[in-house]
This record gives sequence, C-alpha cells and structure tokens, in this order.
Amino acid sequence: MSCLMVEGCGAVTFKRLEQNAIQVRMLADGRLSTGHAGVLLAERRGSYPLIDLHILNTSAQQGEVESCTRRKVKRLLSFQRYCHASRLLRGLVPHTPGSLHLLDDDYLGQAGHMLSKVSAWNFDIFLFDRLTNGNSLVTLMCHLFNVYGLIHHFQLDMVKLHRFLGMVQEDYHSQNPYHNAVHAADVTQAMYCYLKEPKLAGQLSPLDVFLGLMAAAAHDVDHPGVNQPFLIKTRHHLASLYQNTSVLESHHWRSTVGMLRESGLLSHLPADMSQDIEQQLGSLILATDISRQNEFLLTFREHLDNQDLDLQLASHRHFILQIALKCADVCNPCRVWELSRQWSERVCEEFYRQGDLEKKFDLEISPLCNQQADTVPAIQTGFISYIVEPLFEEWQRFTEPSLLSQTMMGHLHKNKARWSRLRFTHPTSESQMQPHVEEDPEPEGGGGGGGGGGGGHEEDVP
Ligand SMILES: [Zn+2]
Repeated sequence: MSCLMVEGCGAVTFKRLEQNAIQVRMLADGRLSTGHAGVLLAERRGSYPLIDLHILNTSAQQGEVESCTRRKVKRLLSFQRYCHASRLLRGLVPHTPGSLHLLDDDYLGQAGHMLSKVSAWNFDIFLFDRLTNGNSLVTLMCHLFNVYGLIHHFQLDMVKLHRFLGMVQEDYHSQNPYHNAVHAADVTQAMYCYLKEPKLAGQLSPLDVFLGLMAAAAHDVDHPGVNQPFLIKTRHHLASLYQNTSVLESHHWRSTVGMLRESGLLSHLPADMSQDIEQQLGSLILATDISRQNEFLLTFREHLDNQDLDLQLASHRHFILQIALKCADVCNPCRVWELSRQWSERVCEEFYRQGDLEKKFDLEISPLCNQQADTVPAIQTGFISYIVEPLFEEWQRFTEPSLLSQTMMGHLHKNKARWSRLRFTHPTSESQMQPHVEEDPEPEGGGGGGGGGGGGHEEDVP
C-alpha cells in the first residue's frame, strides 16, 4: 500500500496516495508550507491541507495543542457514535442502567423509522443527520448496503466497512456550509431513489449498485469549501498536481482510493476487480465536474434521440450511473421547497465565504461569490436555468414514465418560479432568505420539511 504517514508534534497525518507525488514542506512546528503566503493550512486527519485560512501570525503553538485535544475528543465521540450506529443497524437496544442512553435510543428509534422510508423523495436528510448525531452518511450507507445485500454479495468485512465509511464521513469538512457529509448523505439518498427507477432497477448488477452508492457517498470527500479557480489562483498544490483540470474531483477520487486501500475493504477481492472498482469510481466521481456538463448532456441527448441506450451493456449502464450521479449532485432544486431552500442558503454561504477570503487576500472576487452583488435568488435562478433544468429534462425523458421525475420537475418549476419572484420583490439578500409564508401552499401535502420523522405521506412520493 503506497501511503505515507508522518506524525508531527501537531499530529499531522498524511495518508493519501497523492502525497507521494507532491512536495510538501514541513515546518518545524508541524505546519505545512504552500506557495501562498499568509495562509496557515488547517490540520485534519488524513486530509489535504485546507483552505480553512487562518492568518500566519496567530498563536500556532497553542492552537495546535487545542486542535490535537479536540481531535482526540472528536475521535472518541466518533467511536461512541459508531457504537450507537452499529446498534441501530443491528436493531439492538443498549442496556446500560443509569446511563443517559434513553434520549439517544429515542432519537435512534426515530432515525430507524426514517430509514424505513428512505426511498421517499421528501426524505429530510437534515433531520436524519440530527437524529443520528451527525452520523447520517455512515448510517445511511450501512442501511442501503444491507437493503441491497451488498455485504453478503461482496463478502465485505463489517469492521472494514465501518472503518472505511467512518473515514469518508470524517474527511468531509463539517465547517463547510454546503460541501459536508450531509450533502454526501443527501446525494446518496437521491442516488438510491434513482437506482430504484423502474427503467433502471431491473438492469443493474450488484456491482453497479455498489459503485453508484460508493461514488455518491465519496464524491466530494475532503472538499475544501472553495472552487477550482480559487485553488488555481492561490497556486494550491492540488491545482498543480492535477494540472488545473478536474482538480477537486480528482482529489475526491484519489482520497477515496486511499481510504479504500487503507481500510482494506476490498483487499479480499482479486486485484483486477479492486482495480476495476477504483477506476470506475474515478470515472463516476470525475463526471461530477460541472465544467464537463455540456459534454455529458450532449451525449445523453444524442443517445435519447437515437434511442440506442442498451442497458444490457456494462458501458451504457456506467454512462447512466454517471448521469444519475450528476443528477443526484445537483438535485437540490428538485426537492420540496423547505429542503431546497436550506441547500440554496448553504451553497451561497459557501460561495460568499470564498468571496470574503478573496477580498481579504486582495484577489479578484470569483463569479457568484460577492454577497453584495450576487443574491441568492439570482444565483439559484441561473443555476436552475442553465444546469439543473436541462439535465433533468433529459433525465425525465430517459426514466419516462416516472412518478419520481414528474415530482422532481414539479418541484423544480415551482422553486424556480419562487426564486424568480423573490429576485424581483426582495432586493436585499437578507430578506430573500426569510422562510416567511409564501403565496404557494406547500406542494404535495405533508411534503414540506417534516420529513421522515412522522409524516405519513412519504411513500406517496417515490
Ligand atoms: Zn457534490
């Protein structure tokens, strides 16, 4: 296994394959050096240096000690969460007299109830994440692997599976408003809904399902919360490593490969099979690069026009998995308003934070990142018109007849109209964000945000 571990006094640990290919200078106090002055790289387990930009002249020594302690506590808590999650997954109830587990059990009971309706399009991933104590990605993935019998089919070791999924979840940055483990869980839940589409479900092999879910769960892992142009203009080492092309997506993929190898999840499989899985995961994750949107859209449209998609062919199924993952990645505007709105706020907040960093370091502010000029409704209407709508129109053609696609298009059109109205009626971004009473009644009674906890309408929507 070609991974490298370095333990500095700041407990800096590097475990990714990419690390072998790059030059990283370790400073005496355990910090990393990059080309961009004035930037202190955050330390995260197994993570690449991040754009969690702190100014260099902060008290690094003290910060590292605190960071180290925090990490240990976090690991301990993570371990406790795993115990809870595994109990939930095995349907066991912990018995510890006098403990405080009663509340946890109640929460986990509700999370378990939500999982029974995980195929509902109005599944509230935010609520699910709270009920699982921030463990939504691991819990969801284990559940779906059980649903599909993937653990048995691929003879997976449960300990290794938990280790892998735990690493993936932990390597998402919880401080990112948008690109965090909840987004990954949301994309995974959407992917599950797409894999269940009647047009697709009967054609997929266990390997297809395994790849689809794994790619969804890991597709943004270790995302730094800034985009590729930012990495390029700050001369981040990942940009030069991947030659300014699909920089983030390449990093998500290679990080996933590193964690697969580190966990040994696939070590019992023949080498050519695990290599094939790694390559296919790469092809799926790289397809989420939004700059390749037109390339995929045109090919998809051409296949649909020619009616030449043959899902008996592994290559065609792989292409559809790429499209499904792309759809799942940008499906926020197709969710019910209350969920959709929260994602919109989060993604714009992440853009604005990048804009603030650019301002702070005298860099040109990237498009969509200027909070004063780029309002949330304007960003959302553009995103829906140019990215989401064209893609989902083709997805609807492919899945036809599909109740889910109809539902998604219904939400998409209503949400787009709502953002358009907000764009012209509320000039300031603050007022745009208020979830005040709107003119529309909540679409599809019961669909609005209550989510899996109790609402009885989930299964009405595929
Ligand atoms: Zn994503």
